[in-house]
Amino acid sequence: MPSREDITYFGAGPALLPTDVLETAAASLLNYKDTGLGIAEHSHRSELATNIINEAKADLASYLDIPEDYEVLFMQGGGTGEFSATAYNLVGAWVERKKKAIFGDLPGAEANEPGLMQQLKTTIDKDLKLDYIITGGWSQKAAAEAARLLGPEHVNIVADAREINDGKFGKIPDESTWKLSEDAALVYWCDNETVDGVEFPAFPKCLEPKADGSGPIVVADMSSNILSRRVPVRNFSVIFFGAQKNLGSTGVTVVIIKKDLLPPKLQQPSASLMRKLALPIPPIILQYEIIAKNNSLYNTLSIFDVYVAGQVLKKLLNTYPNKAAGQEAVSDKKAQLIYGALEAHPDVYKIIPDKAVRSRMNICFRVTKGGDVDGSEKAFLKESTAQGLTGLKGHRSVGGIRASSYNSIPMKGAEALAKFIEEFAQA
Ligand code: PMP
Repeated sequence: MPSREDITYFGAGPALLPTDVLETAAASLLNYKDTGLGIAEHSHRSELATNIINEAKADLASYLDIPEDYEVLFMQGGGTGEFSATAYNLVGAWVERKKKAIFGDLPGAEANEPGLMQQLKTTIDKDLKLDYIITGGWSQKAAAEAARLLGPEHVNIVADAREINDGKFGKIPDESTWKLSEDAALVYWCDNETVDGVEFPAFPKCLEPKADGSGPIVVADMSSNILSRRVPVRNFSVIFFGAQKNLGSTGVTVVIIKKDLLPPKLQQPSASLMRKLALPIPPIILQYEIIAKNNSLYNTLSIFDVYVAGQVLKKLLNTYPNKAAGQEAVSDKKAQLIYGALEAHPDVYKIIPDKAVRSRMNICFRVTKGGDVDGSEKAFLKESTAQGLTGLKGHRSVGGIRASSYNSIPMKGAEALAKFIEEFAQA
């Protein structure tokens, strides 16, 4: 029977967690801070729970350099829940802006001004657009959810990477070809496509804010690369990520949101207005202003999962005095090791995505030894597993091999995989 030390798990999520964090968490499950009660048993309304939330928020803000005018929310519903939440909340914000522009501050204007109401409806029919940049399976799913909630006529596909790559993901179309809407409710992308191994190399130039801070309302899914590099937070309105790949255990989803999108700066439109406009009303649990107002405790939150995330953040802060930049250097090095081993044997391995957009987190490739892809991938998986290198099977939708080199994969795990890749090619 293998022990933890014998295994490096390269699965795409849930992913490896540091053993010392798990040991502390396991002890805390039984008896947290000598209270005689485990952390998953304490009330989410206790002072102890509030402290865990506030510390995790402060440590995340410190690690990622999140400015003061951003809020951190712990939510439930995973990355998938955020596909819906981002659409609901940013459509609400867009409608509120348009309503202000049309109605001004007229009290009770909604009910009494049918002419203005008609004008708002016409503006929505004509101008409401949500922009999606599709570079892989997850951004595709997010765009599909927006189309399901609002109707495809309100979803603008800015670019679809498959159109420049023979119907497959693996490239990011050049910004000059993007078709952005005039005044989109959001511009959305997935920073790292977990299934397809495509990562944005940098923040797109055309979406950078102007000197006065105004600019497109940018939303990014960073579920599979958060904490692995520096993030220009100010360029984003919303960043979200599930915890289960780079941060902690499955069960919490983090949202970093610009306070401009929350009260007192901005209030979501009333449910009755949205009904009149035939627009969807978000379930209350997906409404950012409700979660923010309650410091993430509108309803019962898994404090245990916030605790695990908090412990991982403390470990990162202790390990890297230069914070995200420190982990970025390590992530780059691990990816270089693995890609380097693959590139050394082009006759045996075919890396899927284009070099310019290769993910540092999810390294996707095919094994083509002797022209027998199926047989050689089976052999690759069998032999790597025998050496304790596990979780390497590609996503069921695309096949092949995928090595997820998340933050908790130690350098020696990446070195062992690179060595195995080399030896398998030579055998
Ligand atoms: N976005 C990305 C980039 C993902 O990798 C995943 C899950 N692998 C999701 C969203 C969906 O997350 P969840 O399973 O937490 O809903």
